[in-house]
This record gives sequence, structure tokens and C-alpha cells, in this order.
Amino acid sequence: MDFSAQLDALKAQGRYRSLTPVDGAQGAEIVFGGQPVLNFASNNYLGLAAHPRVVEAVHRGLDEWGFGAGAARLICGDARVFHRLEERLAALKGAQAAVLFNSGYQANLALMQALAPEGTILCDRLNHASLIDGARLAGASLKVYRHGDMGHLAGMMGRYRTPLTIATDGVFSMDGDLAPLAELSKLAREHHALLIVDDAHGTGVLGDGRGSVHAAGLSASDVPVQMGTLGKALGGSGAFVAGSREQIDWLVNTARGFIFTTAMPPALACGALAALDIVESDEGAVLRGQLAENRARLAAGIGQLGYAVPDGGTPILPVVVGDAARAVAISKRMLAAGVLAPAVRPPTVPEGTSRLRITVMATHTAAQIDHLLAALEGCRDAS
Ligand SMILES: *Cc1c(COP(=O)(O)O)cnc(C)c1O
Repeated sequence: MDFSAQLDALKAQGRYRSLTPVDGAQGAEIVFGGQPVLNFASNNYLGLAAHPRVVEAVHRGLDEWGFGAGAARLICGDARVFHRLEERLAALKGAQAAVLFNSGYQANLALMQALAPEGTILCDRLNHASLIDGARLAGASLKVYRHGDMGHLAGMMGRYRTPLTIATDGVFSMDGDLAPLAELSKLAREHHALLIVDDAHGTGVLGDGRGSVHAAGLSASDVPVQMGTLGKALGGSGAFVAGSREQIDWLVNTARGFIFTTAMPPALACGALAALDIVESDEGAVLRGQLAENRARLAAGIGQLGYAVPDGGTPILPVVVGDAARAVAISKRMLAAGVLAPAVRPPTVPEGTSRLRITVMATHTAAQIDHLLAALEGCRDAS
């Protein structure tokens, strides 16, 4: 393959991507490519990535456990602190058990491969790439239903080889809308399908921090498998799957993305435990209150500029402009105005729906949100 010609083609389509180094810790303001900017790009919704108590817990974790786990969990890397964290995460999700993974991407690959070895996996069209990649790796065949279209899904369910697995994001990562979980769980029950919800963006934020399943008034009996990450609202890195004791035991025994990889550094689990303590405390409730206030302010402003705002109250607010080159041009002008609001283009989102993906945090001030809105208004006619 002629990589250089292919890279040139990406550039011509406005799809070329490159890395921009950040200096210092994550927060509402960061130094991005050497320039101080307002940060409307991160998934650090509660500001826990640099919260003093979380950082302190990681320091203490390093003192106790050293740097690395030394091996995979099943060899000699099974630090006891992982079990404490797994118990807490299972309780957060109201599930019998949970197991950690090193990242959400890895968890979804491992999960789909292990839990859907045969039959058919039905995926929402806007599911995260890791669920789609996991479904491709799994023994079951992948079928895609239109985004949030329960009629389409219901029509597909009788037609394909069983057993059926339905996999959906709880909060869609590029659109910020919610999956219709009550209807999904009803359909899953009727058709004896296994329902898997990836709650990367709901965990810590929605449903008193317990996630989108709890926010929808559902429980682990309605959604048997809940995946979540430690790298978004919880501020760190890693992921988990919560489910029945048998499902989790099956993952430990067969999930290749669990078995054939070095365990995460134990200090990360210490940090995640401290983050969970905050999520479940009064301070967590206050942070979620500030996040909701900030989200409302930003959503109102974006709506006034004439862009559609998704329901559901999540901190992800897409400003869809359509053309990839235009999204990049607007994002560049915003950056020049000191605001980081990244352009998201195909293949991350469908053709013709390029956008700025704006995320809001509990730690933004009203003035910072107003600054973003003013910059966005000033860039509306960029091309
Ligand atoms: C971010 C994300 C993932 C991947 O999680 P990482 O821990 O970043 O690998 C999986 N699913 C969804 C919906 C996500 O938004």
C-alpha cells in the first residue's frame, strides 16, 4: 500500500489527524500545543482527573504497591486492591460481580468475544467503535439497527440466528443522547436476548453516579451486563464489566483481553477507589449539580445559535455542521480564540455529520461557558 498517497488523500478530504501535546494536568484550562486554552474536549466530567484526594490516593498506592503489577492477573499480578475495587464497582451497578480491564476498548473486545461466541449481535448504528470491533471479532455475526430505532430492531429479532445479543451505548459518545434502555430491555426479555450496555459516559454522571441503567429506573435484572470505564468521569484509566457471578467468572476464564495482558498498575485502582468515594459522597452530588447547571447554560446557548441540542441531560453537546473541512475550519478558529472544541469527522461519525464535540465539566465557570458561546457565534460563518 502507498501510505504516502493515502495520507495525502486523507488531507484532501479534511480527514487527516495529528497529535497535539498537552503540558500539565487536566482541568477546565489546559496548555494544548503550548497554548493555554479553555478545555471543552475532555470526558473528565467531574474534574476528578486531578482532584487532590484522588492524586493523593495514587501516590499512596505507588508507595504500597510500586509501579507495575508484574504479570497478568491469573499469573501473579492479582493485587488485592483490584478485588476491593471490583466489589465497589459491582455494588455501584447493583450487579453480583465485576471484573477490571485495562481500557474500555479492550473490555468491549474481550466482552463481545467471550459472551457472544455464536448467534447474532445486534448493534445500534452509532455504537462506539470498540463495541463494533468486538462484535466483528466475536463468533456471532454482526447486524446493525438504525440509531435508537426500536421498530427496526424488533423487526430484525425474529430473522437472525439465535442466541441474540443486543449491544448499545448507554450514552452515545458522539451525540450525547441516551439509548432507549427500557424498550431495549423489554425487547431483550421477549426474545431471550442478552442485553449489554456500554456506560462509559453515564458512569459517575447519571443516575446519582450509578449510570444510565439506574437513571432509566432499571436494574441489573433488566440489563444483565453493564460495562463502564474508569477513564471518563472517574478521572483515571481502565474499565470494568459488571454482571452475574457466572458471567464474570466466564470472562475471567475465557476473555482473551483479560487473560493475555498485564494487569493495570495497582496504584490506578487506588485512585479509582478514591474517585468512587467522591462520586458516592455529598461532594459527588454537588459536582453533579454543578455539571447539570453548566450543561443547562451551554445547551441553552447552543440552542440559541440555532443548533439542535440532544435530550437526556448528558455533558456531551455536539454542534453538527456537516462538512468535515468546515468542522475543522471552525474548530481551528475557536482554538485561535482560546477555546478547545475538537472537530469530529468520519470515520468516527457518519458521512455528512461532522461536528464540534463539545463536552462540559462540573469545574467550568459560567464565564468560561459564555466565552465558548461567544467564540462559537463568531465562527458560525467559517468555511
Ligand atoms: C471512551 C469509550 C470507550 C473506550 O474506553 P477507553 O477506556 O477510553 O478505552 C468505550 N465505549 C464508549 C462508549 C466510549 O465512549
